[in-house]
Amino acid sequence: MEKDQLHKALRTITPMNEILEHAEVVALLHTIGKPLLMDILTQVIGEYRQQLHTDSLFTESMSLLDRQKITTYLIEKIKSKISEEKNTGLKKVINATGIVLHTNLGRAPLPYEAIVQIHKVNEGYSNLEFDLESGHRGSRHAHIEPLITRLTGAESAMVVNNNAAAVFLSLNTLANQGEVIVSRGQLVEIGGSFRIPDIISSSGCTMIEVGTTNKTKDKDYAQALSENTAVLLKVHTSNYKISGFTAEVSRQDLVGLGREKDVLVMEDLGSGCLYDLTQIGLPYEPTVQEVIASGVDLVTFSGDKLLGGPQVGVIVGKKALIDKIKKNPLARIVRCDKSSIAALTAVLTIYLNPEKAVEQIPALNMLDLSQEDLLLRAQELDRQLLAVLGDRCQTEIVDVEDEAGGGSLPDVLLKGKAISLTIEGLSANELQILLRKATTPIIGRIHKDKVLLNVRTILATEFPVITQTLQGIVG
Ligand SMILES: *Cc1c(COP(=O)(O)O)cnc(C)c1O
Repeated sequence: MEKDQLHKALRTITPMNEILEHAEVVALLHTIGKPLLMDILTQVIGEYRQQLHTDSLFTESMSLLDRQKITTYLIEKIKSKISEEKNTGLKKVINATGIVLHTNLGRAPLPYEAIVQIHKVNEGYSNLEFDLESGHRGSRHAHIEPLITRLTGAESAMVVNNNAAAVFLSLNTLANQGEVIVSRGQLVEIGGSFRIPDIISSSGCTMIEVGTTNKTKDKDYAQALSENTAVLLKVHTSNYKISGFTAEVSRQDLVGLGREKDVLVMEDLGSGCLYDLTQIGLPYEPTVQEVIASGVDLVTFSGDKLLGGPQVGVIVGKKALIDKIKKNPLARIVRCDKSSIAALTAVLTIYLNPEKAVEQIPALNMLDLSQEDLLLRAQELDRQLLAVLGDRCQTEIVDVEDEAGGGSLPDVLLKGKAISLTIEGLSANELQILLRKATTPIIGRIHKDKVLLNVRTILATEFPVITQTLQGIVG
């Protein structure tokens, strides 16, 4: 009996050419093209045969269908495979986590001006390495160097792919074969396997650790100095805090020691801040201009952390050192692309007028949002949800704790607001998954068995997308 059903079902499979002639499939062919369609069709028929052989219940129900119904079934499968296929790759998501610089969600959102600039230099050509003055070959650093030096007070600057590359390239150029002295309290690991000891050794230097985890003193550095010392390295402990019985050598003292012993002082600042964060009620973070003013020879920092720009690493400092770094053959390997240069130019231009920075740079703007601003936002989203979904979705505005993220401001919890969602018949877990798998994925957190949408990181333009998605979910 089962054998008969299997044979019948196998015989009824629509032949490929017949499927291909079906009007719906012809339409698909025009949109996705023949190679992909043939691939998917072969796969769908293969999987269908496989299932007939292994799933007798399925075979039984399929053996009752005629050719036309089978064709319809297979075409539905093809369509869902195509939408799966389209659902991969890098795409926009809505960040409802309240973590402003979420490393897994692409860190800093860019200001509008930066996006316009990226568009302009990509739709046609640009003077990326062309000097419009002389008509000769130019340097990609030339576009941003004057801006960075103006903003930071440094003699010279260059940009690379990210801050990890900036640290690596700087050490490789200035301390290869030499010793790099660093405090045991500053042996930082950033997510994604960036570890200071590993970066130092892979850049060809020998790490000399001094002090202890909680205390490092002037004399620890002084005693470790030798004729092989190339760099005194200070690393910003950007993603953790050591508190209690602690001591650290001040930047001034380190610079003093470097001068006295004729050794370079370099600082990996991590999140490079150009804006004094205390002005928006956040704890003090050293700004790049302050670090340069204190006499540090070379400073490196990220573009997409507290700066609020694109993924780049910026190296600023003494001209003689930067000139040397620019000539390192490895500089070519870690150079940054025209889109990042375009975006960074736009972001730095905003910083020229610091009064506009918080308004125009989304990351700073999100960090600055007050409880009242957030409540208004949450109420607006709540209103839109209610208007579209009625009581099919229960909402409540709740207090939450947001974070800066990106390994910045580790001990700062920002008071935030979220919409807590409940949909009858769905667990928090199931709802979280449906939101994550939506056409425009919505990434939210679960707290106390509810899905939370923290409004700090949601753009107002995304509210309608959220209501539409939830409408799709409640059906
Ligand atoms: C984030 C960070 C880095 C790495 O920067 P990327 O731009 O992510 O490569 C290096 N050092 C410190 C101290 C950091 O905080």
